[in-house]
This record gives sequence, C-alpha cells and structure tokens, in this order.
Amino acid sequence: MNIDIKLHKEDLPDDLKLSDNIAIDCEFMGLNVDRDALCLVQISTGKNDAHIIQLNRETYNAPNLKSVLGNKKICKIFHYARADILFIKKYLKVNVENINCTKIMSKLARSYSDKHGLKDLIKEFAGTDINKSLQSSDFGGELSEKQLQYCAKDVIYLHKIYDSLKKILIREKRDNLYTNSIKFIHQRVDLDLASFTSDIWSH
Ligand code: MN
Repeated sequence: MNIDIKLHKEDLPDDLKLSDNIAIDCEFMGLNVDRDALCLVQISTGKNDAHIIQLNRETYNAPNLKSVLGNKKICKIFHYARADILFIKKYLKVNVENINCTKIMSKLARSYSDKHGLKDLIKEFAGTDINKSLQSSDFGGELSEKQLQYCAKDVIYLHKIYDSLKKILIREKRDNLYTNSIKFIHQRVDLDLASFTSDIWSH
C-alpha cells in the first residue's frame, strides 16, 4: 500500500485544505512532558495520506496548525488523546477543540477485550499487522524513510477504527457514555499538568 506522505517544515502550508474530519498523532522525544519535547504532528484526512509537520522546537510557531487544532468545526480523531493533548497544550499552547479518542472508545465499546493499543485496533478493524518497533526512535533530527512510514501508519487507519467503534457504541447503547466521558479530556490533561496522574476517583 502506498501512502501519500508530505513532510512540512514548521507548519502546515497556507493553501492546504484539509477535511472537516482528521486523524492526528504526535511524536515526542520521550514520555516526560517536562523533559521531552514535542517533535512531530501527523495529520491524515482518511484518504491514505499523511501530512507530517516537523515543528520548530525553538519557537513552536505554527499558526496554520494551531488554527486547525483550535477549530471547533473540525472533528479530530486521536488514539490516546490524553498524551497528545498534554504535549500540544504544553508546547503549542493551544486548546484543541472537537476531540475524539479511539482508545477511550475502545475501552467502552470492546469490553470483550483488555487490549486497546493502536496495533490491536488496526489488526481487528483493518486486518493489518503493523510494526511498532520504531515507536521508540529519535524523532528529533532528520527523519528516515522508515520513520516517515511509521509516523504515517499511526494516522492512516484511525478513520476506519473510529467508524467501526462508533457502530459498536451505538449498537450497544454506550455512545452517550462515550460522548460524556470524552468531555473530561481537558480536565484529565489539566490534572496531569498539575501532577495528579492517577485516578482521583479511586478509593
Ligand atoms: Mn505515533
């Protein structure tokens, strides 16, 4: 399968028209938001394409990207939005609007499984086995062709996964549970930023 990959330096191009339903993923230097920088933001419109934005880590000046992220009319599909929104909030300083998360959808829809990783969902809903071995690689410098392919694969399946999970949620009458749960995402990230990382509701 050939993915249409476009690498953009610092920001999305001025004249680029995306759809009103986009999949997003990010790559960081590591998982510690206080230490590790946000390096890449990948966007797919669901047509086997990936726009990979290599951010300027000195300025994080990316007005076009920020306007897409903050646009309420554009639906965004993340997988594990909690981590992406955390890094976006800290480094791009933008409030992302209209967020969906396939990991939260999966936890509510697929109570028959305890595996909610992206790899598991791609396997179940797209029938493809993806290689996650480049997940922990250096995204801070020049990107290899393999890294670009890896980053693209993290976004190109999300529309399909979202549609499949949505159907299950509706069929099982859990879509309201999901819609109300995802509203908590901003509060969850603010708790993370305030170092309340575990579940504050637990005993
Ligand atoms: Mn990724």
